[in-house]
Amino acid sequence: MIKSFFCFLFIINIFLLTFTLSVSADQGADFCVFEELEFEEYLAIVSAISETEEYPHFFAENAERYKAYQERYPDMPFDVVIALVNVNNDMASYRDVEIVADPGEISVLLNKYFSLPPDWVPDEFTDIGNGSLMHPEAAKHYVEMRAAMREDNLNLVMISAYRDFTRQRNLFNNALATRSVARAERAFARPGHSEHHTGLAVDVMHRGHSGGTMTGMRFERSKQFSWLVENAHEYGFILRYPQGYLEIGGYIFEPWHWRFVGVPIATAMYDREIISYEEFYGRYLVQGMRDKVNEYIKEQQRLAEEAEAAAALEAAAAEAAELAAAEAEEAELARVEAIIRAAAQAAAAEALANAKAELAELEAMINDADKFNIHFIVTITILGFSAVAAVLYVVNTRSKHKDGPNTEGIPYLSLFSLISLKKNDQKRNEDQSQGNDTCNENSVS
Ligand SMILES: [Zn+2]
Repeated sequence: MIKSFFCFLFIINIFLLTFTLSVSADQGADFCVFEELEFEEYLAIVSAISETEEYPHFFAENAERYKAYQERYPDMPFDVVIALVNVNNDMASYRDVEIVADPGEISVLLNKYFSLPPDWVPDEFTDIGNGSLMHPEAAKHYVEMRAAMREDNLNLVMISAYRDFTRQRNLFNNALATRSVARAERAFARPGHSEHHTGLAVDVMHRGHSGGTMTGMRFERSKQFSWLVENAHEYGFILRYPQGYLEIGGYIFEPWHWRFVGVPIATAMYDREIISYEEFYGRYLVQGMRDKVNEYIKEQQRLAEEAEAAAALEAAAAEAAELAAAEAEEAELARVEAIIRAAAQAAAAEALANAKAELAELEAMINDADKFNIHFIVTITILGFSAVAAVLYVVNTRSKHKDGPNTEGIPYLSLFSLISLKKNDQKRNEDQSQGNDTCNENSVS
């Protein structure tokens, strides 16, 4: 179930959140776990949910149990109460046992309230030396961690790794031989409840086991332990039974027992300073929480689709408006062009009319000028002829009537001619009167 859930989230993340995932090549094809970024994304979604819900891991169906557990541990913060009840810590250990649905997953929660299915055996193992077997992913990280410690001149001794059902049963029964059930249960898991059965847990020491009790070796005082406390999360390991765990999980402090949960989860616990896996699991990994995250993703997907559809509609509307605006602009352009064309035609017509008028005027002027020229020529000609005729007449008249004025031609004489004629007449008259006297004298004589 958890596998398919994580796979589902993986796919959703790819499509919805466009996160790129780099699955390391050494992971089996059927082994689907969160890479750090992906799990961070999962936690980010939980954080997003917690923005609207004060206790995102609160489930109404557990309300009465939360209340009862809080009464049992009045000093415990309510969010821790919720987390622990979510993983059945309020139930009777080894009595209300639930069989885990995800025994093969590295995030599987095993304790006195959850057991592996009967006869369950891990699919595959990796030998990490001396016949010690581990889940392949856990083994790979353990070997890396051990090498890192060696670089810091720290030697880590493997005491115990994978233990099958029979071995765990023998261990527990042996413990029962020397102590009470209650005491045995504080240090030994019953068969089917041990993390060693999953291949994900290791017991380590700073030196070889000398035959005494693990507690007596005081691993918690070693440099190795300090190193692990600071660095183990980088290799996906957590201290499973820390100080103060007894009351919550029913196990004594076991500094030697380290559990592989994967780098993302171990790092998230380290960053949040959550010391018990029960609390972390009850907060983030219970099925109810995964369902909520799934719902949230679906809702976001739905909202994204809606937003996309709305955006598409908006884009279509904008496009239509743009088209309409373009058409309107085109129409306006056509209108203006028509106006310009009409104005140009009118101007051309006016110019033509003006040109015609000017032409007509010019023609008229030319006509007038022609008329003027003809009149002028005619007048000049007439005057010329008149002058010539007058001269001829005067010349002619003077030659015919030397002794007396001839008044016939007077209308055609020039003023000069008239004056000279008049002088001639006076002279002639004087001459005649002198002649008469002479004659008279002559006649008397
Ligand atoms: Zn152990």
